[in-house]
Amino acid sequence: MEIVRVAGWVFEKRDLGGIIFILLRDSTGIIQVTWSRKRGDKEIGRKMKKLKINDVIEVRGEVKKEEQAPNGVEIIPHTLRVLNEAEHPLPLDPTGKIDAGLETRLNLRPLDLINPKRNAIFRIKSEVLRLTREFLRDRGFLEVITPKIIATATEGGAELFPVPYFEVTAFLAQSPQLYKEELTIPFERVFEIGTYFRAEPFNTNRHLNEFVSIDIEAAFHTYEDVMKVAEELIVHVYKRLNEGMEEELKLLNLDLRIPQTPFPRVKYDEIMEKLRGIGVKIESGEDIKMEHLESLKDERTEGYYFIIDWPSKVKTFYTKDKEDREGYTNSFDLMYRELEIGSGGERIHKYNDLIKKMRKMGLSIDNFRHHLVFYKCGMPPHAGWGIGLDRLMMSILGFKNIRETVLYPRDRFRLVP
Ligand code: ATP
Ligand code: MN
Repeated sequence: MEIVRVAGWVFEKRDLGGIIFILLRDSTGIIQVTWSRKRGDKEIGRKMKKLKINDVIEVRGEVKKEEQAPNGVEIIPHTLRVLNEAEHPLPLDPTGKIDAGLETRLNLRPLDLINPKRNAIFRIKSEVLRLTREFLRDRGFLEVITPKIIATATEGGAELFPVPYFEVTAFLAQSPQLYKEELTIPFERVFEIGTYFRAEPFNTNRHLNEFVSIDIEAAFHTYEDVMKVAEELIVHVYKRLNEGMEEELKLLNLDLRIPQTPFPRVKYDEIMEKLRGIGVKIESGEDIKMEHLESLKDERTEGYYFIIDWPSKVKTFYTKDKEDREGYTNSFDLMYRELEIGSGGERIHKYNDLIKKMRKMGLSIDNFRHHLVFYKCGMPPHAGWGIGLDRLMMSILGFKNIRETVLYPRDRFRLVP
């Protein structure tokens, strides 16, 4: 006879009078605890009768084979301790049998995450993080951590959250861009997985004011080289999720098909032409909107693909211009259908070229002097990208709302919990 001790939460209770079943949940799964009047201790029976969903209990007892039980075994309790009681009814049904709206679920997130489907999302996300680190380290990228409290904008344009910093006003970082570029001098290849902040008052299903980005930067890489890193990373993640996360994927009814490489590379100009062909009024040099891509019927844009060679006007100041085509850059957006997952490209590495571009874009050279100095101290040719982790999860799991893939999302109207 095997005696075990299990601590966890009441997930479900079935009281048939002479026999009481409890489904006990812990982080590893669910096990049945069975008490019967015939053989069970009276005191334990009284306690079992009073149990409510999410009461915290500890059970000691013997393990028995039982075909009818969820895992083919059950525990016959010898002792039962109630470690904490939960109120009844709970503000959110943790089994998910009673459906609640997203607002309510996010307000009560830890209860929402008891639901095995919701729980699976974040187990998969954790695995995606592990696989990403594994992949990039294997490729010679060093993981780094750069400051999130900064003095000036890195991208220019995009809005920053100000924070009081002693005598001055500092800002929350919107990306690790300049730091990761500088770090190619000592390390060649770096990556960072970090939280970034954008103060734009978006109200969309793909923007949050706080999000996680996977960033890489690599010396002596072209934009084609780093596009390869991105597509191979995604294939690696898909393959390994299929191998290690079958249970979670099944809970979410997902059958992950490993994307084919190379991902299609579609030129910005070609998309513009196609869009004009279907009557969209759009000028060259404009950004491409999601609605536009939705109406584009092209088999190359049905999964992951790159939109490459963007006009300089819509890309950031550090993006390198094409040598053979004025006004265009060696840049790309990584897309999944109509959703932007990431952006990247080759960067300017010559001091004079960068100054010229910054002047043209009306940026203050003085604000960037701490950064610009390195362009005279051995800045290598380099390229990189940033991929939004939360958006990557949307593409893998098929969610339309980014909030489903973030534990405690921050948006225009959500600051608690
Ligand atoms: P968008 O055009 O969708 O607003 P962006 O081009 O401004 O995005 P980038 O500066 O290119 O964003 O940032 C790189 C990646 O970081 C994006 O492709 C996206 O995956 C992610 N990202 C950027 N802003 C946000 C945000 N507000 N919420 C969630 N993810 C974001
Ligand atoms: Mn972008």
